[in-house]
Amino acid sequence: MHVMKNRLIIIAAVIFPLVLIVWVAPFSRREQGAAAVSKPGDGGAHGASGEVLERLKEEWARNQKLLASFEKEQRGLRALVIEKRKLHQDGAIPKAEVSEAERAFVAALMQIQEARRTLSEIDLALAEATVGDELERLPPLAVNEFSETARLSRFNGGSSWSLKETPKVEKYFSQSFGHNLPISAYGQTRTHDRMGFDHRNAIDVALHPDSSEGRALIKHLRDSRIPFVAFKNAVPGAATGPHIHIGKPSVRIAAR
Ligand SMILES: [Zn+2]
Repeated sequence: MHVMKNRLIIIAAVIFPLVLIVWVAPFSRREQGAAAVSKPGDGGAHGASGEVLERLKEEWARNQKLLASFEKEQRGLRALVIEKRKLHQDGAIPKAEVSEAERAFVAALMQIQEARRTLSEIDLALAEATVGDELERLPPLAVNEFSETARLSRFNGGSSWSLKETPKVEKYFSQSFGHNLPISAYGQTRTHDRMGFDHRNAIDVALHPDSSEGRALIKHLRDSRIPFVAFKNAVPGAATGPHIHIGKPSVRIAAR
C-alpha cells in the first residue's frame, strides 16, 4: 500500500514540474556521513557482522555513483525537453517528439527517486547497526519507561504496536504538519534481511529527533504509549542516518 502511495506521489510530482530543481544537497551530506561510519558493530548479539556492514557500505557507494549519473542524465534530458518544446512551438517538429523526450525525462526522474530511496534505506539501516551494540548493552526498560543517551533515546511504550497502527501515526502527523510522515522503511526491507535484523513490526521515519517535527512526533509517541528508538547521531560528530524507529528495537536474526 505504501509502495503504491509513494508511486502515486512520485508520478504526481513529475507530471507537471518539468522544471523541477533536483534536490541534491542532503545527499552530499549523507556521503560525508557514510564515509564516517568506520566503526561498525563487531558481530555481537545485536550488531550486524562487519562483513555485512562492509558490503552495505560498498552498495551505498555504488548507489551514490549511480545517482550522480542519473542526475547528470536527467539534466541533459531536461534541456532536451525544453529545446524540443520550443522547436514544436515553432512548428519544426511534431508533438510526438516532445512527448517522447518528456517520457525519457520522467523515466530518469523515477530512477533518481529509486536510487535515493535505496540510499536512504541503507543509510538508516547502517545507523541502526552501528548503535546496535550500544542498544544491546543498555539495561532493559520498564513498561512506559523512557531513557536517553547522547546517541539515542528509547521508550518502552506499553501499547500493542504493530504495523497496522501506522495510519494513526500518519494521520496525527499530516494533521499537525500538513504533509505526509516521511517513512523511509516500512516493515522488513531487503536491507534488513541482509543485515539480519527483524524489522517486521517497525517503521523508520526520516526525521531528526531534535528537529521540531521530530520532537513533536516523539511526544505523540510517548503520549500514545507507542515504543520507539530515536537515533540521533550514529557516530559522534557525524550526521549519519538520524531517524526515529517506531516499534520495539530490532533484534538480530540470521543474516541472509
Ligand atoms: Zn528501524
